[in-house]
Amino acid sequence: MGGGGRPEVLRGELRRILLESLPAAAVQWGRRLTGIAALADGEHLVTFADGTQVTTRVLVGADGAWSKVRQLLTDVKPVYSGKTFVETFLFDSDTRYPESAQAVGGGSLFAMGEGQAIFAHREPNGVLHAYAAVNKPHGWAAGIDFSDRDRALACVAAEFDGWAPALTTLITASATDPVAREVMFMPGEHTWTRTPGVTLVGDAAHLMVPSGEGANLAMFDGAELARAIVAHPGDIEAALAAYEKELFPRSAVAAAEAVAGFDVCFGPDAPQSMVDAFAGATA
Ligand SMILES: Cc1cc2nc3c(=O)[nH]c(=O)nc-3n(C[C@H](O)[C@H](O)[C@H](O)COP(=O)(O)OP(=O)(O)OC[C@H]3O[C@@H](n4cnc5c(N)ncnc54)[C@H](O)[C@@H]3O)c2cc1C
Repeated sequence: MGGGGRPEVLRGELRRILLESLPAAAVQWGRRLTGIAALADGEHLVTFADGTQVTTRVLVGADGAWSKVRQLLTDVKPVYSGKTFVETFLFDSDTRYPESAQAVGGGSLFAMGEGQAIFAHREPNGVLHAYAAVNKPHGWAAGIDFSDRDRALACVAAEFDGWAPALTTLITASATDPVAREVMFMPGEHTWTRTPGVTLVGDAAHLMVPSGEGANLAMFDGAELARAIVAHPGDIEAALAAYEKELFPRSAVAAAEAVAGFDVCFGPDAPQSMVDAFAGATA
């Protein structure tokens, strides 16, 4: 979507495009990794939930926020940001929820105050995709039955008591069961010591607070890793070392920018900080 310098693509479409670019057997579905054992010479024995095992000379952890592969490289664990994002979808919004559709307009909406926010984004065919971001302790969402849609939505909407109905409708009118996503991140400048035969890409490597860049970074990591392997034929250690040498500073810059963006949304100066950010961007 869009014609500017930051084109957008629906997640499902991106997934389809990537999958269709691969040989059919490249992705094996339903094979949950349950265990990894380091063998000699940088090889690893990987065990899956179905009981099968493979031995590999190159193990790339692309297994997201709670990466099992990461545990081979570091003891550092993700920490909670203090925010939980509850995800909702409204369908046929121009007809059924015109005030909300108008508020979101043709792009994105950011409404914020007192550490909370409602973010929404227009997708094709009148779909509004929204996040209600609440300031709650870790585990808050576990105390709510999100499969009881109406009750869960009412509970989340109550956090925005007094906000404009066009905004709270983005919560209460969800056509899907809301999904709570606790926002986690890797603390500090997350790096690890080079470990033979293993590396990470995407959130496994550099889980950070949402900034709209996570998927881009994950894809870029994958491309850069491939480039490093091609540039070091027959020397996988040199390839992984070259990849990580660029990965760490790149991730540190992106993580710092993500924290700054999070502060614009949730810091004490919000929403003025967002107005200033836009004014700066267009000055
Ligand atoms: C609320 C929220 C909003 C966000 N919004 C945006 C946005 O607008 N734009 C953007 O670019 N990014 C956004 N992000 C970040 C983005 O979702 C991530 O950065 C991105 O998905 C990272 O991709 P990944 O492939 O590294 O990890 P993931 O997308 O998490 O993929 C990891 C995969 O590994 C699989 N896996 C995990 N463990 C195992 C196992 N043991 N065995 C087998 N498979 C396993 C999982 O099933 C999953 O398919 C957002 C994040 C949050 C929390």
